[in-house]
Amino acid sequence: MSGYYPEGVTGNEYQIAGAQHEWSDVRAEACYNEDCKMFEVEDVEAEVEIELSHDTEYYEWKCPTCGATRDIERNVE
Ligand SMILES: [Zn+2]
Repeated sequence: MSGYYPEGVTGNEYQIAGAQHEWSDVRAEACYNEDCKMFEVEDVEAEVEIELSHDTEYYEWKCPTCGATRDIERNVE
C-alpha cells in the first residue's frame, strides 16, 4: 500500500487508524445467487465490517440466507 496515503500521512494517524476508520454496521444488499430464496425478492440485511477510505466504503457482505458473499464498494461523499 506504499503511496496509498498523501505525502506526510503514514496511515497511523488517529483519523485514519482510529475507531472511525472501521466499524460494524447493518447493510441491505441484493443477493446475486440465483439459487437463493431472496434472489430478486428484496435486499437482505446483514452485519458487515466497513472500512472507509477516501470517501468510499468497502465491505464484504454475506447473505444470511444462502451464505453467498459480495465485495461492495460504495461512494459515501
Ligand atoms: Zn442469498
